[in-house]
Amino acid sequence: MPSILQVALDTPLHRLFDYRLPAQLDPVPSGSLVEVPFGRTLQIGVALERQSDSAIVADKLRDVIRVLDDRPALSPDILHLAQFCADYYHYPLGAILLATLPPRLRNAAPFMAGKPWLTVTEAGQTAEPPTRARAQRALLDALRAAPQARETLRLRKQGRHAAALVTAGWAEWSRLPPAAGHALPTQAAPAATVEQQAALDRLLPVLGTFSVHLIHGVTGSGKTELYLRLIDVVLATGQQVLVLIPEIALTPQLEQHFRRRFPGRRIATLHSGLNETARAENWLAAPDCDVLLGTRLSVFAPLPRLGLIVVDEEHDASFKQQDGLRYSARDVAIARGKQADIPVVLGSATPSLESYAQALNGRYQLIELRQRAISQAQLPDIELVDLKHIPVDNGLTRPALQALTDTLARGEQSLVFLNRRGYAPALYCPSCAWVSPCPRCSARLVLHRTSHRLKCHHCGFETRIPPECPSCGNPDLKALGQGTQRLEETLAARLPAARIRRIDRDTMRPRAWAELGEAVHGGQVDILVGTQMLAKGHDFPNMTLALILDTDGALYSPDFRATERLFAQLMQVAGRAGRADKPGRVLIQTAFPDHPLFRYLQRHDYAGYARALLAERKQLDLPPFTRQVLLRAEATTMDAALAFLQHAAALAPDTAGVSVFGATPAPMARVANLERAQLLVQSAQRQALQAFVRDWRPQLERIKPRIARWSLDVDPLVF
Ligand code: ADP
Ligand code: ZN
Ligand code: ZN
Repeated sequence: MPSILQVALDTPLHRLFDYRLPAQLDPVPSGSLVEVPFGRTLQIGVALERQSDSAIVADKLRDVIRVLDDRPALSPDILHLAQFCADYYHYPLGAILLATLPPRLRNAAPFMAGKPWLTVTEAGQTAEPPTRARAQRALLDALRAAPQARETLRLRKQGRHAAALVTAGWAEWSRLPPAAGHALPTQAAPAATVEQQAALDRLLPVLGTFSVHLIHGVTGSGKTELYLRLIDVVLATGQQVLVLIPEIALTPQLEQHFRRRFPGRRIATLHSGLNETARAENWLAAPDCDVLLGTRLSVFAPLPRLGLIVVDEEHDASFKQQDGLRYSARDVAIARGKQADIPVVLGSATPSLESYAQALNGRYQLIELRQRAISQAQLPDIELVDLKHIPVDNGLTRPALQALTDTLARGEQSLVFLNRRGYAPALYCPSCAWVSPCPRCSARLVLHRTSHRLKCHHCGFETRIPPECPSCGNPDLKALGQGTQRLEETLAARLPAARIRRIDRDTMRPRAWAELGEAVHGGQVDILVGTQMLAKGHDFPNMTLALILDTDGALYSPDFRATERLFAQLMQVAGRAGRADKPGRVLIQTAFPDHPLFRYLQRHDYAGYARALLAERKQLDLPPFTRQVLLRAEATTMDAALAFLQHAAALAPDTAGVSVFGATPAPMARVANLERAQLLVQSAQRQALQAFVRDWRPQLERIKPRIARWSLDVDPLVF
């Protein structure tokens, strides 16, 4: 009787595939990666169940070609977590399983797990290289301070010296940047504040069982410090900790902070800023690490001794993947915590309303930190500048300019926040009203003056700045509105003495964060201009003014989450001002100073605003009081996209308590030459909605004519 192996493959099909397992390959543990023929190609898949027979006729069955034994099998807990995602997100299991792996490990090329870190040995700690070997001495000194990455050594052309130190027995290669040991100056924990201690008293007893805790703590209240203390206790039991952080918050400073606090512990990182080799190496090293610090994708990392998951800035939108498997890493983290029976700690100064509602209704434990940890650090005053009564010149009002001038005169730093990168949101023709449309999207091309180009921020289309209006030939085109580049230019003209730095996605690279942090701390920057990226994770004690321009779009947006997001952003920005012993000030320019959002903001009252928004959501039957699934369709014409959705609506099962809304064009109706439409399905009961989609999805696959693309988005965040 042939031995049949069920294999999960990365295909859009919701099924597994049977292969014959040649005896010489046996045994194949479940979760192993195997290479199999698929159609006319070879594919990498994941071995699952063994069966004694197959529904496929024997002569159609094909053989497993080989087992990739240069990489470990996916562990049972990851298989289990992927199955949860397949059920909950209605996405094919094989596609999920392969997506949990770093790209380098899902292709067939052999992967040799390298040893990318050069570290000092015991002998190297005290060794004295000859005086003339200057470069070797310098490298050894550097190694005593911290392990060095192979890649860095290569860039600095230190490979030869590294080899010499290894030969001498003073250094060695290793897989993980090992524990800092006595090399890095270690950092002792400060005495816990009263609130931190109260939080620990509640958290420590629950270690070892599943529970979800929401730490709502004002910026600077010491949430990070609280995680560190909790992590310390978990590590002492020999368990591992997974710390999830937003995409851009993983700064080298945060990593250093962890290393200093946990000398003797192995800390690994996983994020998209790493190259593919480093990502694969860190993933392979994850089972041996003590703390894994990573972004969204690390929620699927192999951690056999996991004892705690922390999700920092849990409200952050980067935890939700916006294509392929549209999962929320926060929600998957909770599922993982449940499966592993360990606690999950969510933290934020501005929790998502989803999490906050769960805390209010008692499903999550709410832990509040109301005071800043450093007692003299006061929350800043928040003032509004009424644009209906005060004139604006190039995006800036006189009070705003005055505040910048005063701050500069005191030798303190300011932050100017404008959520639009580029020079100006559009180029405009005053004679015919042409406004730089993207030829492929329903969006405007953004003017980038430094690179002399018009760019689409949605599809990536770029073109030269036209010398004249493409529509009427008028040579006198104007920049319309404000972007960060133009703001930087205006500020430089008004405040010639100020040293200005601009930070946005156009200027940021992972290293740039570290460098920027040093420049700000070192007092080499007076004014930092940037987009919302600036709002996160930094602690600049001399930053006493935050100026916020142009938030009004979000106040009356059709997106029901726009005010929640704006409030969170403003609270975070306000949290940047005046964190140490100097009082901070926040100035917001707005044409709607009477909007209720500002009342709560001025009182630093997250809880009050959250309750007000929740009351509104409840009345309107919106999340978190209902659950949503969005069916998205993309086609070459809007008619085709809408027809697909109407067909889908007609096939909808009749499930009690589930409402199917009408098909509508998406708010961004065209992106990259495809027309986009969507259909919303909603229910107050998650179970009912899940059952509905389970019945519905297979029907969608049969709809003719086919369109370019469709997908289901469970718990959609953007529409
Ligand atoms: P959050 O993550 O809530 O914004 P942090 O943990 O970064 O806050 O703490 C804010 C500041 O307060 C940091 O400079 C930190 O070192 C300091 N801090 C935190 N907890 C304590 C404590 N118990 N004693 C003294 N300083 C503390
Ligand atoms: Zn024109
Ligand atoms: Zn475009």
